[in-house]
Amino acid sequence: LTLAERASLVGPLDYKVLKTIYELNSNYEYVPYSVIINKLGLLERELKEVLLKLYNLKLVSKEKVLKETGYRITFAGLDTLAIKKLYANKVLNKLGIIIGEGKESNVYFGYDFSDETIIVKFHRVGRTSYKNIRKIRGIKYKEDWIKLTIENAEREFSALSCLTNNYANVPKPLGQAYNAVAMEYIQGNELYRTNLNNPEEVLEEIISNVRIAYQYCGKLVHGDLSEYNILIREDGKPYIIDWPQWKKDDEDLLFRDLTNILYYFNKKYEIYKDIDQVINYIKGE
Ligand code: ATP
Ligand code: MN
Ligand code: MN
Ligand code: MN
Repeated sequence: LTLAERASLVGPLDYKVLKTIYELNSNYEYVPYSVIINKLGLLERELKEVLLKLYNLKLVSKEKVLKETGYRITFAGLDTLAIKKLYANKVLNKLGIIIGEGKESNVYFGYDFSDETIIVKFHRVGRTSYKNIRKIRGIKYKEDWIKLTIENAEREFSALSCLTNNYANVPKPLGQAYNAVAMEYIQGNELYRTNLNNPEEVLEEIISNVRIAYQYCGKLVHGDLSEYNILIREDGKPYIIDWPQWKKDDEDLLFRDLTNILYYFNKKYEIYKDIDQVINYIKGE
């Protein structure tokens, strides 16, 4: 089942149980069955049915805790809560197909209530090391993993907000819920697979956007700037995407970001720029 299909199968009662498990996961690595039933006051038969459904849809995982079964929300479970909340907030009417499965996120098309195409990015943190960490018992690793994932979404949303308010070329943020960020769809291709006919201009524009971030968003530095995280819109404008790893006031990171970009334009387009001069311009010195 696709994420959209799974989310549409989650009814109001399923949602309530899923949300309760998520909330209790800050206290319990796996929430014991008895805790869930006490909290919700549902009939035994009713709750068991819902839990089985959530488990079959892979929205929760389960594990024996002492003598009962404990439940924990999964990434797909978080995605589902996010979809429902973005819908309630009138940001997302319908989720579309997946367009990118990155190391740190799954990116989907979506449609807003005017039927415009938008992007929904579902963050994932610690996915690669999940299986290894899973073996370690007794530490609250998964709580951190949910929390870090949601923090990443919040961090990306806040960066995009400041950048948009200061007229930087980034996707406009439309909403944020749980691990998801909804944003404007930039129609175009990544820089690495575009052949620019005005590379000097594009490089200038990238640098001036890095400058806006630094000057107007509290010395904000992207932290993963490269030809993979810049989209060239159909009209030729460069858009900087993928912001969750930003840091503030980190000169080494700023240097690294610019080294990547200047190196790329040098290699592909034989444009040379002095990095110290560029950094001085960005810092406004
Ligand atoms: P990575 O694993 O490379 O670090 P990521 O998981 O952090 O990636 P992003 O780089 O933000 O995620 O997005 C992944 C891909 O999804 C992008 O390379 C781009 O093709 C597409 N994408 C993301 N945001 C947008 C957007 N606003 N408009 C159009 N396409 C987008
Ligand atoms: Mn990356
Ligand atoms: Mn990326
Ligand atoms: Mn990334």
